[in-house]
Amino acid sequence: MYYMGIDIGSTATKVVILDENKEITATSAVQLGTGSSGPQKALEDVFDKLEISFDDIEFTVVTGYGRTMFDRADLNMSEITCHAKGVFASVPGVRTIIDIGGQDVKALRLSETGMVDQFVMNDKCAAGTGRFLEVMSKILEVDVSELGELSMQAENAISISNTCTVFAESEVISSLSNGHSREDVAAGIHKSVAKRVTGLAKRAGIVPVVVLTGGVARNKGMLKALETEMSCEIKTPENPQLTGALGAAILAVEKSV
Ligand code: ADP
Repeated sequence: MYYMGIDIGSTATKVVILDENKEITATSAVQLGTGSSGPQKALEDVFDKLEISFDDIEFTVVTGYGRTMFDRADLNMSEITCHAKGVFASVPGVRTIIDIGGQDVKALRLSETGMVDQFVMNDKCAAGTGRFLEVMSKILEVDVSELGELSMQAENAISISNTCTVFAESEVISSLSNGHSREDVAAGIHKSVAKRVTGLAKRAGIVPVVVLTGGVARNKGMLKALETEMSCEIKTPENPQLTGALGAAILAVEKSV
């Protein structure tokens, strides 16, 4: 039997299919979010992998920013619930979750049993999000997946004083034209995001074990910058972009009985 979790984000669509023992049977992450062909493509991808169709799915839970636009699920659940569930199942002892997505940043503090005790979110502005990193990677002419690697080769990270993405963009352009290396500029960009995210996480309360999730957790430079800023070790699950969809799929198994 198959149980499905779909996380339709602003930037990417993630799908996880589990069997009745909560073992992963197929996953997909398509870098296209709500209002695009992303959800359709991600579903086609997992169904092709298992050679099944939607009719073979016992129960579906949808989550994410675009969840209300998807009407084929049995249940629609908040991102907070699904993220907490997915990370708690992936990283033993997790107490703090920092989720950096395409357009928002969330900090969740969990109880020892995985209940959400505290939750803080920034969704009003692109600063400190994956979008900020995407804008900056265009200026540095690298793919966003290579930006972290570039930042880790820096000798002297520049400091970026503007938090607003538009002003920070001008600051980055002038740093490059003033002769700063792309590596030092990339490190400055990561440091600026890390400072902002740390401020948010402190409002939720940082208790170890700390876990970074969301698409931005695939960026190793961001992980390192956050560890420096927070002065603590931060873990990432094996597939950090999939934890919301994984939590939704676990809930699909639990809600179907
Ligand atoms: P949402 O759920 O809001 O759609 P995600 O959690 O899927 O967002 O994260 C999207 C962000 O993840 C992108 O803005 C980008 O910065 C980052 N990202 C995606 N893939 C990679 C990758 N391979 N390496 C580094 N960063 C990535």
